[in-house]
Amino acid sequence: MAGIAVMGAGILGLSAAFTLARRGAAVVVIEAEKPGAGASGGLVGALAPHAPEGWNAMKQFQLESLLASREFWADVASTGGVEPGYARLGRVQPLADEKAVVRARAQAKAAAQLWQGRAEWRVLPARDAPGLALESHTGLVAFDTLSARLAPRRALAALMAALAALGVAVEKGTTPPPNVRQVVWANGVSGLADLGAALGVQAGGPVKGQAALLAADWHDAPQIYAPGLHLVPHADGTLALGSTSEREFDDPAATDSQLDAVIAHASALCPALQGATVLERWAGLRPRARSRLPVLGPWPGRAGHFVLNGGFKTGFGMAPKLAEAMADLLLEGHDARPPGMAVEAILPSPRPDQP
Ligand SMILES: Cc1cc2nc3c(=O)[nH]c(=O)nc-3n(C[C@H](O)[C@H](O)[C@H](O)COP(=O)(O)OP(=O)(O)OC[C@H]3O[C@@H](n4cnc5c(N)ncnc54)[C@H](O)[C@@H]3O)c2cc1C
Repeated sequence: MAGIAVMGAGILGLSAAFTLARRGAAVVVIEAEKPGAGASGGLVGALAPHAPEGWNAMKQFQLESLLASREFWADVASTGGVEPGYARLGRVQPLADEKAVVRARAQAKAAAQLWQGRAEWRVLPARDAPGLALESHTGLVAFDTLSARLAPRRALAALMAALAALGVAVEKGTTPPPNVRQVVWANGVSGLADLGAALGVQAGGPVKGQAALLAADWHDAPQIYAPGLHLVPHADGTLALGSTSEREFDDPAATDSQLDAVIAHASALCPALQGATVLERWAGLRPRARSRLPVLGPWPGRAGHFVLNGGFKTGFGMAPKLAEAMADLLLEGHDARPPGMAVEAILPSPRPDQP
């Protein structure tokens, strides 16, 4: 008999189920459609840090998650025998103007202190940067050694294999089985809508993203980031490009000329990509909480029910640490979350004239 039901087989639900099972809990995963049916079934897989500036508890939490990722994914791979496509190869960012150069130099100094010597942020001549040759107006780039890549669908397959090896069932359904002690709602966009309806608030909403997969073999190259554009080489000879960010849309699954613009932007930045075959075009809905942060914690007013949601643009990078924080809370009652992640953070603040 499972003690914990995890609702939703996206990256957050499967990662939490894995960590809970690893720590000895009896877990079952319930998925409405199929694993990866939501935002997690996409193409990009950039595990990239926030800029080392304006430091706060959330940025520290994300740093710890990115640093924990190598071990987490190695454990998943060795438990289930399926490789998730993880590699920490860094990230190159072209610096567009003098202002960007000054800021990147300040970030390099801050990273030396904030990243505790576990990763670096440097400003380099573009010609000395590893990987794909790119256009940089200043001739300079920022290069960090913290960013990593993960192949999203392989990562889910690796988690599914690891869960099978640990004896965790993944079943189809939309309601928790009877008699479980605790329920974790990790059901993405529809989960945020359900939470908002239950609490009588706007808990957040979907932000559509479109991405593409190209045939371009740069498998050991670092990823590239320019505003609005991620280029992520994968180990299988493909290169993922993302993403659009759309609050207004008609069809959540359709791709259109906005994705053509992303592909054109990538080719202008990296001329070697011009004419590369587009293997796949994909669109999905990111679960964005009203706080823009992940939401993790007890569901107010529903004893035994918990929320794990709001991955927004960083769900893959945050998954190891969110899974750990969820397990700490469920199994030990230990609360290691930054305060901004509590479910209460999405409730409207009381007006000053209210008690
Ligand atoms: C174009 C695009 C590019 C992105 N790029 C990156 C990136 O490079 N790096 C990064 O870290 N993040 C990225 N993201 C964000 C990332 O994909 C999300 O943060 C993450 O996938 C959210 O995971 P999740 O498990 O919370 O939700 P989902 O993956 O949406 O999973 C929720 C699951 O719950 C199921 N479900 C719904 N209702 C129920 C129910 N009642 N019972 C049971 N199951 C239910 C759904 O079918 C679904 O499978 C990107 C997103 C998009 C759209």
